[in-house]
Amino acid sequence: MSANPNAKNAALMAPYMQLDQRGKVQAEYIWIDGDGEIRGKTTTVDSKVTSLKDLKEWNFDGSSTGQAPGGNSDVYLRPAAYYPDPFRGGDNIIVVAECWNNDGTPNKTNHRYQCNKFMEQAKEHVPWFGIEQEYSLFDMDDKPYGWPKGGFPGPQGPYYCGVGAGKVYARDLIEAHYRACLYAGVEISGINAEVMPSQWEFQVGPCLGIKMGDDMVMARYLLIRIAEEWGVKVSFHPKAVPGDWNGAGCHTNYSTEAMRKEGGMKAIEAAIEKLSKRHKEHIAVYGADNDLRLTGKHETGHIGDFSSGVANRGASIRIPRHVAAQGYGYLEDRRPASNIDAYQVTGIIVESTLLL
Ligand code: ADP
Ligand code: MN
Ligand code: MN
Ligand code: MN
Ligand code: MN
Repeated sequence: MSANPNAKNAALMAPYMQLDQRGKVQAEYIWIDGDGEIRGKTTTVDSKVTSLKDLKEWNFDGSSTGQAPGGNSDVYLRPAAYYPDPFRGGDNIIVVAECWNNDGTPNKTNHRYQCNKFMEQAKEHVPWFGIEQEYSLFDMDDKPYGWPKGGFPGPQGPYYCGVGAGKVYARDLIEAHYRACLYAGVEISGINAEVMPSQWEFQVGPCLGIKMGDDMVMARYLLIRIAEEWGVKVSFHPKAVPGDWNGAGCHTNYSTEAMRKEGGMKAIEAAIEKLSKRHKEHIAVYGADNDLRLTGKHETGHIGDFSSGVANRGASIRIPRHVAAQGYGYLEDRRPASNIDAYQVTGIIVESTLLL
């Protein structure tokens, strides 16, 4: 494995990180770029931030991020949510920002805007989401992290929730990410090693409405940043390694107040019926290259068919066994790929099941 060019010299850096900031705060603005990747830059704020109103609207060069033409390149950053910064600590923060064009329209990458409208229209139903983010790790030579050089690990079987050398890779990095999410206030609810070696999953939720998308942007940002320090690349591609290796998804769990109450199965079944009528529209925003993953194999339903079932991991929509047994709870949409925009996915689920 080649050396990590990004490794920080912790000992050299420590004294600087302890210096007094003289009351000033560092705010790292992050946003989604033209390729769906996350970008970020920092500004100094004069004092501790206690509300979104304390944060300025900022801008960046959209021609360098695939978000605007060179001749009209300013894109605006409107603060949408902020979190304690686990890297800088103290009162420093990370700001999730929406991108806006200078003519007052949302940038093509700003799916939060529409999502927020849907969530507002549907708020009486109190929609909750929980997303299971699967992802794969690669080294600086673009080889799956920890895989034998010039070869392959043994076939899938021992790796899912695996314990022990040769079964799991980069547990330290995953653990660091978990703690960073807890510190930042991301509603992370768990982690597990996945079926393909060096593939992992974290779960975020349940989150109310728009917070699902915001927490997902933050959770991904924290993961990519921490992996940067390890010299590890994070791939959200739905089929990161071709062949007999599991793809990566973003199962999206969903419930409304009616589904969570006694007798909620009726509301769950009604939602599934509505989802069945808009399969194509959903697949259109459920991630690029998702056809490589939704093959009907490797615990997926085929991309061309809509199906549902209790405890069925080969269906589009699964009703977890314990939900069917108690008669209320939530449903799991298994179609979204690992590279989704969570605002688009939670937005269309609310639109299809509650607003049409
Ligand atoms: P799986 O068995 O599919 O691997 P996980 O335990 O990985 O399930 O993930 C379950 C997800 O469901 C979590 O993100 C959790 O927050 C979410 N969840 C639990 N209850 C609800 C609910 N009532 N509404 C929406 N999401 C929920
Ligand atoms: Mn400049
Ligand atoms: Mn899971
Ligand atoms: Mn999984
Ligand atoms: Mn799942």
